[in-house]
Amino acid sequence: MSVDEHTPVLRSCIKLPLKKDELIEVIAKAKDYAIMHGAAMRSKTSFSPDSLNFAPFVLVPSSFPRKEFEKAIALQPIINRLMHNVAHDEEFITTTLAETIKVDEFTANLFNIYRKVLALGFTQRISLGMLRSDLMLESRCPELSPLLETSAGAGNDAKEGQKQKERMADAKASTKAGKANPTAQPGIQRSASSSYCCWKQVEINTIASGFGHLGPASKTIQSFVLRELGHAEKLKQMPKNEALAGLCDGMVKAWNIYAKPKSVILFIIEDISYNICDQRFHEFYIRETYPHIKVLRRTLTEVHKEGKLGQNKELLLGNTEVAVIYFRAGYEPGHYPTQGEWDARYLMETSLAIKCPSIQYHLAGTKKVQQALAQPAVLERFINDPEEMKAVGKIFTGLYSMDDNEVGNANYEMAMRTPEKFVLKPQREGGGNNVYGLDIPDALKRMSRVERSAWILMDLIHPPLSQGYMIRPGSDVPPQIVDMVSELGIFGVIIGDADHIIHNYQAGHMLRTKLSTANEGGVAAGLGALDSPYLIDSDDED
Ligand code: ADP
Ligand code: MG
Repeated sequence: MSVDEHTPVLRSCIKLPLKKDELIEVIAKAKDYAIMHGAAMRSKTSFSPDSLNFAPFVLVPSSFPRKEFEKAIALQPIINRLMHNVAHDEEFITTTLAETIKVDEFTANLFNIYRKVLALGFTQRISLGMLRSDLMLESRCPELSPLLETSAGAGNDAKEGQKQKERMADAKASTKAGKANPTAQPGIQRSASSSYCCWKQVEINTIASGFGHLGPASKTIQSFVLRELGHAEKLKQMPKNEALAGLCDGMVKAWNIYAKPKSVILFIIEDISYNICDQRFHEFYIRETYPHIKVLRRTLTEVHKEGKLGQNKELLLGNTEVAVIYFRAGYEPGHYPTQGEWDARYLMETSLAIKCPSIQYHLAGTKKVQQALAQPAVLERFINDPEEMKAVGKIFTGLYSMDDNEVGNANYEMAMRTPEKFVLKPQREGGGNNVYGLDIPDALKRMSRVERSAWILMDLIHPPLSQGYMIRPGSDVPPQIVDMVSELGIFGVIIGDADHIIHNYQAGHMLRTKLSTANEGGVAAGLGALDSPYLIDSDDED
């Protein structure tokens, strides 16, 4: 990650370090608490379907500015609608992905299914979107810190420059003396109130958006820890998080729309689900809250073997009719080891079942589409309200095409000149695929001009640091205090067809935190840790 001495530090929710004895005791309790409340995963190193390890977690919640959190929550239904409109814009999806599918086989395979489904006409016009918009605080917002350089992205014209000056003056006026962060360097703005002037979207997920259970579970562990440490009064600054209920209720709403009492909800799963709690808790919630609705779990391979279409194109597994398909797999090439899995995906896409996501939603979530959306004027196509358009426009950081044309080649030159400003992303999900900073030139040099169009370039976001204890299975106790950065995900549920939106709501959140030195922070991948936000106001006392 891009961290240097200018990176601001958010104040911690409680005074650290903790006394050694107290720390050792609370960690032992918290680990057990985590396992016993399902904040757990199957071990990759010593896998057994019969046991769980606790999922890595941050001991106490990380601070997050309340204003920015609330902004993200309020914006989610607008982002939901944006993605819904994008998913239903055949021309936009087709043109945007035209170059990418020439070189990216995986996206091309998805696109082929889309093309075939379009040609046949959609059997099921309704889609269930369960999205997660991921964001990071940007500590180098031009409006607050003239000392720090601006990002290469958004509009720097004269009018915007004047507005920035005005915002800077406002921000300085609101930065109270005496509230500066204790680690601040003289002469550099590092107070808590200036360290989080805005947030930027990292990506939008339209398939397998995880942590509907682990998000709320993180709050449960950290609330327990805060109470154990005698800080129960801090709990009120942890926002409620009903992600699990919000997402599962979304599936049930789709099931109700399908309106066949004996039909089931089908989860499409990987061969091995390491992140099992984050799937089973969804299933258990549905079974407990709506006992009349059955949930099945199948791999793509199993659907290929068992699945067929009925007379009205209903998806049948044996004699069981599927109302809703929830994909927790199918987002990476490894999930399709043979043509059989692709055939299964196609079968499901042509069926009457309501899909989460449908193929057009899946394509709308590609990095290439995200990059296209961030271009000025593109948003106008999807959002009518000027205020909403402005609000969404602000969350994009610079995103650049790598297509083999004049613009793409200029962006290529820019990446070669100043790679430290960027991250290079392929059309993949699930973490571990991106190329960061100084590694970019070598990666680009290995690609042909045409191959580059499978990738997009993005400005690096520079989140503020937080400091605390990260607890991982097998790690040293007591742990050291480490520098960390967080990524917030906001869930959204949207149900509708090309003409109508039936349900659209924000559905809770999740916070993942990683060491500040790590590029990526997937919890299942082993670098990130469960966390939850502790909302702070700029004028809070430490
Ligand atoms: P994936 O689909 O693999 O999750 P992401 O775009 O979410 O891909 O990138 C993976 C991780 O890389 C993110 O969770 C984040 O930690 C980091 N990352 C991605 N984009 C940026 C960026 N622009 N600035 C800083 N970190 C980023
Ligand atoms: Mg991601």
